[in-house]
Amino acid sequence: MVSKDTIRTGERAVVCTPAGDAWLRFIGRIRTPFATRDSCPRQGRIDGPECRLVLDPVWQPALAGLDSYEMIEVLYWLDRSRRDLVTQSPRDDGTTTGTFALRSPVRPNPIGTSLVKLVRIEDAEVIVRGLDCLDGTPLIDIKPDRCAFSPKAPPKAADGG
Ligand code: SAM
Repeated sequence: MVSKDTIRTGERAVVCTPAGDAWLRFIGRIRTPFATRDSCPRQGRIDGPECRLVLDPVWQPALAGLDSYEMIEVLYWLDRSRRDLVTQSPRDDGTTTGTFALRSPVRPNPIGTSLVKLVRIEDAEVIVRGLDCLDGTPLIDIKPDRCAFSPKAPPKAADGG
């Protein structure tokens, strides 16, 4: 993983507009056993360790009904990423790929998403398995797994069509 200030052979950074044109409200912090990038998985696994979404208590009522879902989507802010690379060399071998063709944490708006297993809810804390973020990562949002919704009815065939 590229640390905040390093750049690898072949990678390209750009001068970009200052961040701050959208205001996010962090709803809490994520507590994980991953203190360093080296100990952090590249993608979480649902048999991974329990992690805690620790919400600001003001958001506790927003969890009502969440416990009926087995899988939930978690969005978080990869706050220790650099944000100015347009090409990256994930293997550090000189070959590069465009940032938008990667799930790297290094991106203009470092939003991470994971589909995780909901283990239990304790007051304003949601315990999950399947995360891949560093301890203390800011939490942006929680959503039910989109597959849990019924698909829309298919449109009726047009007459004579
Ligand atoms: N699952 C998310 C996704 O696909 O959007 C994130 C994937 S990203 C490849 C996960 C990696 O981001 C971790 O292995 C770690 O190296 C890095 N990372 C985790 N938490 C971070 C944080 N708070 N700031 C910067 N980098 C972080």
